Amino acid sequence: MNEKLIIIGSGPSGLTASIYASRANLTPLLFEGFAAGGIPGGQLMITSMVENYPGFRDGIGGQKLMAEMRAQSIRFGTRIITEDVESVNLSTRPFVVNSSGGATYQSLALILATGATARRMDMPSEKKFFNRGISACAVCDGALPMFRNKPIAVIGGGDTALEEAMHLAKFGSKIYLIHRRNSLRASKIMQERVLKHEKIQVLWNKIVVEFLGETLLAGVRLQDTQTGEITTLEVAGAFEAIGHQPNTSFLSNQLTLNEAGYIYTHPGTTMTSVEGVFAGGDVHDFRYRQAVTAAGTGCMAALDAQKWLAEKFGI
Ligand code: NDP
Repeated sequence: MNEKLIIIGSGPSGLTASIYASRANLTPLLFEGFAAGGIPGGQLMITSMVENYPGFRDGIGGQKLMAEMRAQSIRFGTRIITEDVESVNLSTRPFVVNSSGGATYQSLALILATGATARRMDMPSEKKFFNRGISACAVCDGALPMFRNKPIAVIGGGDTALEEAMHLAKFGSKIYLIHRRNSLRASKIMQERVLKHEKIQVLWNKIVVEFLGETLLAGVRLQDTQTGEITTLEVAGAFEAIGHQPNTSFLSNQLTLNEAGYIYTHPGTTMTSVEGVFAGGDVHDFRYRQAVTAAGTGCMAALDAQKWLAEKFGI
């Protein structure tokens, strides 16, 4: 049996798309994932408190927010499968979706909302302090009391790292930008802003080799990439900004991606390069990457899909 709409991804974008689509009687089938992309529910599942999602004056736990969205979606008739999508075939109509459970599904339209995974440094001491001083999102966590008027490290030399450093400079006493080379990858305008900011100091040619502390992060051990010299730096926070990886491997290059590897969408819409396939959230957005913008583009994807299905199939 053909599905009308399959949604792949269960972060704010996929779940918002499913809320809109189920309320439009499209009875969507949503793959929430199992292991691919980290965890069902997306990146908010590994965030402690979400304080910038509108409607929650005192903030809301990331897991609670996702549980609410999921329950809201089921309430309107979304069917959820807890499996990874391993591959899709976008060259046939209807589209074909193969899941990790071994089953094959067919659908007239698809919404891709598989998000992006923040790259990690992958060292044992990093796990210990994640959400205890280590974060991958300054906009989400920078204003927390634990970072106020304290020295903070930002790791990376791209646009994200520099934006995080600028944002954190509003809260921290001093921001150390730790970069492994002697020149930045970020855009020139961001470099100018950061290099002249009185609170931000770039530590060139340095990598973090260990995160230090008891229960909360208290510092980092650094190694100079030129001399090998080891030093320690006292910081209350370490914001990792070493890039994101959009979760697109299951697509096997059947869609046009942009130069950063994110799914290309026609400007101002969620339409991808393949008619009938729509994308929402971080898998196509490298610029904003917020829960609320992911939810917004998830809504757009559902509305675009709904309109397309109505025009094409009279559904
Ligand atoms: P980037 O890939 O551009 O930068 C990642 C940075 O992290 C690089 O400086 C890299 O160093 C460093 N890095 C990578 N791995 C490690 C590691 N293991 N240890 C230490 N450092 C590491 O990612 P971004 O997220 O910054 O940006 C992604 C894309 O999004 C870019 O095209 C960027 O321009 C764009 N962007 C645009 C924004 C905007 O327009 N407002 C905002 C944010 C991003 P090295 O330089 O040595 O490779």
